[in-house]
Amino acid sequence: MALIVQKFGGSSVADSDSIKRVAKRIIETKHAGNDMAVVVSAMGDTTDDLIDQALDVDSNPPAREMDMLMTAGERISMSLLAMTIHAQGESAHSFTGSQAGFMTDARYGAAHIRNVKPYRVMDALKHGEVGIVAGFQGVNADGDATTLGRGGSDTSAVALAVALHADVCEIYTDVDGVFTADPRIVPTARRISRISYEEMMEMAAGGSKVLALRCVEYAQRFRMPIHVRSSFSHRPGTLIVSQDMDVSDIPNLAPNQCQVAQAQLDNQPGREG
Ligand code: ADP
Ligand code: ASP
Ligand code: MG
Repeated sequence: MALIVQKFGGSSVADSDSIKRVAKRIIETKHAGNDMAVVVSAMGDTTDDLIDQALDVDSNPPAREMDMLMTAGERISMSLLAMTIHAQGESAHSFTGSQAGFMTDARYGAAHIRNVKPYRVMDALKHGEVGIVAGFQGVNADGDATTLGRGGSDTSAVALAVALHADVCEIYTDVDGVFTADPRIVPTARRISRISYEEMMEMAAGGSKVLALRCVEYAQRFRMPIHVRSSFSHRPGTLIVSQDMDVSDIPNLAPNQCQVAQAQLDNQPGREG
């Protein structure tokens, strides 16, 4: 039995119908025999809307209060997702960053994860439940809510996967994977089947927002395979792994994905086939 962490970005949980679609997908993966932990972002533009609301009442809001406010977005989506899974006949338990054991430093708005002790998530998994964690948030030594910086749910997902010793961290978004350029701007961009952590970090540092830079750094440090894929299709996505990793060990791939990813690696210049 594999343990899979799935992360769903804001575009994948933008409304009730999307949350139902995501819940169905989580349950399908669970019924295929996997333990499931899920990280979820705030619905659609919720985080932007919360920031606008703050600026309407205070042009220079205190950083602590901003983080208090922004963590509310993921709290909405995590509980709605748990309820939706319940309505579809499975049990799920949602946890805030603090409940899930995400300890951070005190840098409000750009906190760094110090350690993750997801005991309550482990307990949920032990009882056959789906463990759902609010992305983008943690708690500092004073017990105050912190956020990890925009796009930080990607980092939450990888950190949770590492702490749980998951087999893969799947990042679900609104495109089929990582492309050679932003597919919404460059229509000829091609999906990459397999990419190294280093190359992915270069893309993220260069401004490609499909993955947060820190999430890739974290994955490289702990050799956690990332699979970026679409929550709107079952097409193969992009595997982010080191060159020496055997992708046939990664669970929940699309048919043939493993062979295609291996062929891409073999065809790289300077490598023997
Ligand atoms: P989520 O809500 O799932 O976190 P994001 O908006 O953060 O999604 O990231 C997905 C978006 O990243 C895509 O819709 C796409 O427009 C953009 N993007 C930018 N560069 C790339 C790239 N090289 N490959 C894929 N998507 C990219
Ligand atoms: N909701 C947060 C943001 O919009 C975190 C995330 O989506 O990853 O930045
Ligand atoms: Mg994102």
